[in-house]
Amino acid sequence: VINTKTKLFGVIGHPVAHSLSPALHNWMLKHFDFNAVYVAFDIEPRLLRNAFKGMQAFGIAGLNVTLPHKASVVDYISFASPQVRHLGVANTIKYTESGLQGYVTDPYGFTESLGSQKEKFQDARVLILGAGGSAQSILYALKDLGCSEIVLYNRTFEKALQLAAKASDHLGIGSITALQSEQLQDAVNDAEIIVNTTSVGMHPDTGNPLPFDGILKPSHFVYDLIYNPLQTPLLRMAEKAGASWQHGLGMLIFQGLRSLQIWTDTDVQLNSNDLELLTAHLIREMQNS
Ligand code: NAP
Repeated sequence: VINTKTKLFGVIGHPVAHSLSPALHNWMLKHFDFNAVYVAFDIEPRLLRNAFKGMQAFGIAGLNVTLPHKASVVDYISFASPQVRHLGVANTIKYTESGLQGYVTDPYGFTESLGSQKEKFQDARVLILGAGGSAQSILYALKDLGCSEIVLYNRTFEKALQLAAKASDHLGIGSITALQSEQLQDAVNDAEIIVNTTSVGMHPDTGNPLPFDGILKPSHFVYDLIYNPLQTPLLRMAEKAGASWQHGLGMLIFQGLRSLQIWTDTDVQLNSNDLELLTAHLIREMQNS
């Protein structure tokens, strides 16, 4: 029932029409019995300042932030979590009477989505494809997962180089190297885990070429952050090679769960049955949109 105590949460982005966040959060709000609703706000960059004034005026309890606002929102928060300070972006804003707080929940989302696969990362050699915003979050997560060696490959080499330098300096990740394209084949072969953080293979460009030409092996674990489609060309290749693989829907769910924990100051958790139901709900949403 919506009444005078109903809290409002939402996502801001431009565009946001295809965001799965309303489906994800409204499912969780109902599941955990919060008196709240979650909506999508399409905010043009030039209106961002007004949007935050509005958020404070209306007492909107929390917002997720998606492209293109993740970096610019940092200007409007009065408390930044250590991850926001390191990464320079925020994807979760919490309203408090003393000001807006900013958090990044993607590293948590990635780590928690791994479940029992977390063990694979201990002392592992990991190849990350991409050097954009999500690659930074993955590096943050990998730091805590105990990987022994990280190599970064990106279409634009300079960005991989900058990210590797930043991760060494700020995150204290010792063994991290940026690869030139001629080193990629060997890196695929040497890696135990491959994480695709590029948008190559994402809907509607699912016919895009693979992010690399390497050969996958049954011993590889391949994680693709993309969740639409659930099985990208890269993951199809992993399956064909007999490798284990995971799509990005779990990460989306757990980064959202972390936002909800932050906004509500509660330790809400999803058990495996909840996860299955929520995953099926989101897949239906994607099919219907
Ligand atoms: P981003 O900051 O824009 O970075 C995009 C990355 O993809 C860059 O490294 C870019 O390389 C690379 N790229 C784009 N098109 C390419 C192409 N045709 N060939 C080779 N490389 C290409 O985006 P992001 O925020 O990191 O997001 C990347 C993907 O992760 C998206 O598909 C997004 O949906 C997904 N994601 C999923 C979750 C989740 O919860 N599952 C969370 C965050 C992101 P250049 O530097 O050379 O341009």
